[in-house]
Amino acid sequence: MEQTIKSDKSTESGNVMYAVAMRGLVAFPKMVMHFDVARDKSVASIEKALKNDGKLFLVTQHETYVDTPKASDLYKVGVVAEIKQVLKLPDNIMKVLVEGVYKANLVRLIDDGDALRAEVKRTPTYSRAKYDMVEAEALMRSVKDVFERYSSYFPRMPKELLVSVMTQDDPIKLFEAVTFNCNLNYRDKQTLLEESNIINKLSVLFACLTSEVEILGLENLINEQTKNSIDKGQKEYYLREQLRVIQEQLGEDEGDEAFNYISDIMALKLDDKSQDKLLKEADKLTKLPPSSQEAFVIKNYLDTVLDLPWGKYTKAKMSIEKAENILNKDHYGLKKVKERILEFLAVHMLNPEIKGQIICLAGPPGIGKTSIAKSIAKAMGRKYARVSLGGVRDEADIRGHRKTYVGAMPGRVITALQQAGSANPLILFDEIDKLCSDIKGDPSSAMLEVLDSEQNNAFRDHFIEIPFDLSKAVFITTANDVSAIPGPLLDRMEVIELPSYTAEEKFHIAKEHLIPKQLKEHGLKASQLKIDDKAIHKIIQLYTKEAGVRTLERYIASLCRKTAKKIASGEAKRVTIKEKDVHTYLGVEKYSPDLSSKQDQVGVVNGLAWTSVGGVLMPIEVMVLDGSGKIEVTGSLGDVMKESAKIAVSYVRSVADKYGIDPNFHKEKDIHIHAPEGAVPKDGPSAGVTMTTALVSALSGKAVRADIAMTGEITLHGKVLAIGGLREKTMAAYKSEIKTVIIPSANKPDLEEVDDVVKDAIEFVYAEDLSTVLDTALIK
Ligand code: ADP
Repeated sequence: MEQTIKSDKSTESGNVMYAVAMRGLVAFPKMVMHFDVARDKSVASIEKALKNDGKLFLVTQHETYVDTPKASDLYKVGVVAEIKQVLKLPDNIMKVLVEGVYKANLVRLIDDGDALRAEVKRTPTYSRAKYDMVEAEALMRSVKDVFERYSSYFPRMPKELLVSVMTQDDPIKLFEAVTFNCNLNYRDKQTLLEESNIINKLSVLFACLTSEVEILGLENLINEQTKNSIDKGQKEYYLREQLRVIQEQLGEDEGDEAFNYISDIMALKLDDKSQDKLLKEADKLTKLPPSSQEAFVIKNYLDTVLDLPWGKYTKAKMSIEKAENILNKDHYGLKKVKERILEFLAVHMLNPEIKGQIICLAGPPGIGKTSIAKSIAKAMGRKYARVSLGGVRDEADIRGHRKTYVGAMPGRVITALQQAGSANPLILFDEIDKLCSDIKGDPSSAMLEVLDSEQNNAFRDHFIEIPFDLSKAVFITTANDVSAIPGPLLDRMEVIELPSYTAEEKFHIAKEHLIPKQLKEHGLKASQLKIDDKAIHKIIQLYTKEAGVRTLERYIASLCRKTAKKIASGEAKRVTIKEKDVHTYLGVEKYSPDLSSKQDQVGVVNGLAWTSVGGVLMPIEVMVLDGSGKIEVTGSLGDVMKESAKIAVSYVRSVADKYGIDPNFHKEKDIHIHAPEGAVPKDGPSAGVTMTTALVSALSGKAVRADIAMTGEITLHGKVLAIGGLREKTMAAYKSEIKTVIIPSANKPDLEEVDDVVKDAIEFVYAEDLSTVLDTALIK
């Protein structure tokens, strides 16, 4: 096989040159093309050809898959080309740029082992035979026509090429321009190369191109159809591709930012509409200068939206037993409240999809509404978030401001979800009775939407703009005064009243819950601070006056702080606080033991009132002085109480005889009615009985039993009418160690709500009219 190369002294009849077998590519004379070469033999052929004269025979394989082609694997017609440029790539790959020079027949293939050579015979590219100009013209038109259609599938094809093809009037030039620039099958191209008659060449070209255009048309149709039915995955793919392009155009950083937003948005699994809306925002971002105000607004918006817990749900196995343990562990007493809550949880357990169950925990401050709500969250395995509604008067507080506002933010509901980090948290709406409405809009209507199970699966915050599903969240509300909750809101809630605590309950709460909790919070061990039981009682009695235990907890915290300081400074190793030490630690007592009159007195009666801090014992004093019939009322009494005083005076005049009272007292005496602790405003009709009793006592000189307390509204004719807050009032009486409480007969059914300890300690007297009251209270 050894054969020397006759260099470039080629003859018309035949010459030998290095050859490359082409896979799927066909070269033409005058055509410039580049291709990659990877086979060792081809690489060697090119290297050797370069050292020689740079000429190369390019001949196409019948089948592309043949690795070591023999002569029979190759077409018989190829092209002698000139190597213009060679680029060596890693892995022994070569990029070659060649220009076809002439067409040649393969006479013989010589395999050198390391390279291929071929003996070739030059053959004319185009036959010189005459052709019919008209036929050529017709063919040219057809070819141009089909090329125009072909180019419509390639929007990126250079305009100049299209123009030069369409205006070409030379058949050969037209053939070349079209053949070199169209993507035809290599077998078709080989046929075009082998054919030398221009008429035949053009008609084959026309046929090939026509079928190619048909295929392209069909392909397009399929693409169109599949595009319509592309699923999300493909959409994602397209978007990512687009992004990559954006990224390239924008440069790394900004592109990266938009890319991150888009991939984050797509990861959220939102519904199509919401996703499109967010993608549009992200897209806007790519078109804005990064430091512009608008870009900042969009970024802030996207950050906020992406931070929301879309589709994030906490799962927990709920059991009533576990829930009961948690409630008992966290809270002392509250038996009925716990029972109601367990019922609520049981329903939730059996039907997690249940809608519209909203609990309202009602009662004075500091009685554990918030902490009960936290325990419920724990028992249900939900994240907990609190929204304070006290003083909220703007709808935007609930629902957010449009993002175009300066400093716009989402509303409190969305913020709570953000904090909770889950889409099914327990949200506590604190103090729902303190919502206000004014010209800035009605926040309670926004709250209605939040709480309404029919609407809240697509809650719209003005800032977030896209709907958020709140239907899986659990809502609990709290209120001090149920009557102040707007009607439509109250309708949606199941009210659970939390009672105020007795001193005994407070003592247990302090000992079992508040002290251990505060010790822990202050980093103290139980052995380092001991508070004597008597000291705890003293704090409850003389330092606090509240329905709940908030102030008590604050004092305990204060004791812990002072102890921590002593221990940290080395002043003491442990501290014990006895009854007598309370004064040293907490300063002077804030309240006198109690205001109830301890001795039977004339003109002083223990009344019972219901205020925002729960029930209180409220003594009423009456003094009768010589005068001209003036009535003076002091002690921050409201209008209703002042009216009660007048009714009392009229009534006493009508029964003056019976109690040995001078019937002319209203002309000759001035009457002064006073309720001590004037700073606390008091109102309501329930002090009627108290005032009348005090008045009768003062006018008749008969003393009133100090161990009695009373409550009841009166009529002019001396009837005793029902009052509210019996539970809290009797609790106050119990705390003041009152033995007998006079209540209106009509309130008898309400005794069911009164605590057992209170019922055990107190004797109740039911009054239908004032004579029962006076007979019981006055000492004969
Ligand atoms: P509210 O929400 O009704 O104003 P909180 O829940 O803030 O009251 O209660 C004040 C403090 O008293 C909390 O530390 C709470 O844990 C505690 N507390 C209230 N009631 C009880 C109770 N029954 N058992 C244990 N701790 C209680």
